[in-house]
Amino acid sequence: QVRTRFAPSPTGYLHVGGARTALFNYLFAKKHGGIFILRVEDTDHARNTEAAREAIFDGLSWLGLQWDEGPEAGGPHGPYFQSQRQEIYDSYFEKLVAADRVYEDEGAYRFRFERKPIVMNDLVCGEVTVDYTNEDINPDMVVKRSDGTYTFHFVNVVDDIEMEMTHVIRGEDHLMNTPKHLQLFEAFGIEPPKYAHIPLILNMDGSKMSKRDQGAALGEYPVNGYTDKAVFNFLALLGWSPKDEQEIFSPEELIEKFTIENVNRAPAKFDIDKCKWMNQQHLAKLSPEEFAAEANPFVENAGLVTGSDFTAIAASIQEKVSLLAEVPAMVSFFLNEDYPFCPEAIEKVKKNEQAADLLAKLADALEGLTDWSQAKETIGETAKANGAKPGQLMFPTRVALTGAAGGPDLGDILNIMGHKESVRRIRRAVE
Ligand code: GLU
Repeated sequence: QVRTRFAPSPTGYLHVGGARTALFNYLFAKKHGGIFILRVEDTDHARNTEAAREAIFDGLSWLGLQWDEGPEAGGPHGPYFQSQRQEIYDSYFEKLVAADRVYEDEGAYRFRFERKPIVMNDLVCGEVTVDYTNEDINPDMVVKRSDGTYTFHFVNVVDDIEMEMTHVIRGEDHLMNTPKHLQLFEAFGIEPPKYAHIPLILNMDGSKMSKRDQGAALGEYPVNGYTDKAVFNFLALLGWSPKDEQEIFSPEELIEKFTIENVNRAPAKFDIDKCKWMNQQHLAKLSPEEFAAEANPFVENAGLVTGSDFTAIAASIQEKVSLLAEVPAMVSFFLNEDYPFCPEAIEKVKKNEQAADLLAKLADALEGLTDWSQAKETIGETAKANGAKPGQLMFPTRVALTGAAGGPDLGDILNIMGHKESVRRIRRAVE
């Protein structure tokens, strides 16, 4: 059975690079009916924070990367925090002592490398050899510090043994650690897992992504109104592609299509505009009810009160939305007396000398209308009856109803706003 893990160090917020590593491990495990493990590499007491740990758990949960074994989930190989595994590490250290593979160096302990070339067959990077023959180039490494704690390389390998990992998928920045890890596996007489080092993520200009770059923190995504499924989709395509034209995938499709063979060797380019586009595509696919449910918290957080017509309101703008955080500004005219009027739009209306007169006539015509579904047609008819083109009245009507030059279809607006309120706003505009 395939067993993969995400092994973050909780020292900062959850970076998109880390989330992408977690996702690839998850996809690979699920594709093969395997187990996805979360192991918290929290041995660096000075740098670990509770907030960072929460951000990791929240981020993975938000993306839907439910771990089968790990903190909270439990499992047969716990504890899943490295800070709670000291006795396990001690027992493995004793094995190295017994095999005469460690020696003391000023209170710390070094692991004696085998002086020979180590060949790794990485599933992404192919064959890579590091020659340990020369001690000056690759000196024996410290595995236990003088304070009794163990180093990253040691605990990482011990846990991969104990947790029975079959595949280790991690960032390319760890590629050169792997021969060290293979030396330890050999010393313990354990068959190592298969390794896959996935490409770095670069900014569009080719620079390395830093903590401050836009979109670097996974926690920003839900706040800005990205949906979990869109980000899942976006992260999956950072360094992997199905080698066809399709770009929009559900999580289920990604589990089905994911293969390590299709992970790219070249660095991935981080394009936040692409992520926005994907979000728009995912939002557009939701049912009106689902979309309204996703949008509702953003609208209420903006201090607007939604009612039973919110599904219709949300549906009227659904295809225009890239980020859910845009929704309050787009719908406020429906929900609130106090929506902004765009000065440019009003200027444009005023340039048309007939506008006020046409709007007054329209208000009368709409007032007497018995079938409200005819409201949009009435605009065109009123314009024509007064020697104007429909557009000459459509635009002023839109501005009167919404305060803006753009927005939902005018028919949708009239429908949702209803007879009384529409007439009231048009009359107010010409007062
Ligand atoms: N704690 C290491 C990191 O966050 C884990 C590396 C690995 O996946 O083996 O980079």
